[in-house]
Amino acid sequence: RARNLSVATGMKPNKPDWAAPHIGPTCFHASDYLHRAASFSGKRVSVIGGGQTGAEIVLDLLTAPGREPAQVSWISNLPRFSPLEEGGFVDQVFTPGYVSTYQTLPQLGKRSEIAGQKLASDGLTPATIDALYEEIYRRKHLAKAPDTVALLPGRNVFALDRDAVGYRIHTDMTACQATEAIGADVIILAIGAKPSLPEFMAPLSDRIDCDPSGVPNLSKDYRMTFDGPAGNSIFGLNMGLASHGIVDPQMSLMAWRAGVIINALAGSQVFNVEPGADIINWPRLDHPVATSLEHAAATG
Ligand SMILES: Cc1cc2nc3c(=O)[nH]c(=O)nc-3n(C[C@H](O)[C@H](O)[C@H](O)COP(=O)(O)OP(=O)(O)OC[C@H]3O[C@@H](n4cnc5c(N)ncnc54)[C@H](O)[C@@H]3O)c2cc1C
Repeated sequence: RARNLSVATGMKPNKPDWAAPHIGPTCFHASDYLHRAASFSGKRVSVIGGGQTGAEIVLDLLTAPGREPAQVSWISNLPRFSPLEEGGFVDQVFTPGYVSTYQTLPQLGKRSEIAGQKLASDGLTPATIDALYEEIYRRKHLAKAPDTVALLPGRNVFALDRDAVGYRIHTDMTACQATEAIGADVIILAIGAKPSLPEFMAPLSDRIDCDPSGVPNLSKDYRMTFDGPAGNSIFGLNMGLASHGIVDPQMSLMAWRAGVIINALAGSQVFNVEPGADIINWPRLDHPVATSLEHAAATG
């Protein structure tokens, strides 16, 4: 028994509608890869998803001895296979100060911030991307090996079906406004994970305010809007990409998040969670920078 609850059960593998009917031994989420990795020899394997997980799986498929697929295709909806955006300035979005700025933005601004920060969390590590490039270069230009690797960025998968030969992955090539079908025997979904309420919360789920995808809407202190007794709060962790921004599904602010929740439970500042001095003046709605600089100049 507990007066308050903090739900931190992690994300669920993303299995979109077009994949759901096919999930099984030959079409599975990347989180199952290591259980299936023995059975790819001679197969056409397609990895969908151009993030770090997809990159590591493609590298493993090309380099693990004795079980190499006949063909590997790597599909990404991003325009390029891009490295992680790193560095001191990039990392400033993983701070309490940035979270408080983000929370002043209108919905459209929040969405565009998250889209623009994609590579700060989902880009490829230099070690993986370099190893992959070297392996593909070696095969193509040094070993003059048969062309068995297809790198396919800029393709958004929208449907999956089967014909007599195997799967057909239907993609939308946004840049040229055309569609394309890619054949495969095995499909690995390296398309990330989604926040969601765990099954054990089902008896309470219709009493919790959620967005259209079923993810609880969170207040600044991670509290769900729950119509239960005022003294019984439910907090949600790793569910706040929309409410808290890009840092929410990351470990960077884990201690700060815990401090925010403890303060909310205690009703006092047990931990100092106030943002430190930021080195970047992000656009924010409550005190525009230009105004505060003018004010500083005017007051000397
Ligand atoms: C490939 C990859 C790379 C990443 N790289 C980074 C990185 O470089 N930097 C970074 O900051 N973050 C990174 N992340 C994100 C980071 O891993 C997550 O933010 C972090 O693990 C989330 O922690 P969590 O405690 O919310 O969830 P989890 O770590 O998923 O923990 C949830 C726990 O709850 C348990 N659980 C689930 N259901 C139940 C239940 N019904 N009963 C009891 N227990 C249950 C699960 O078994 C699990 O142990 C990466 C994630 C991935 C997948």
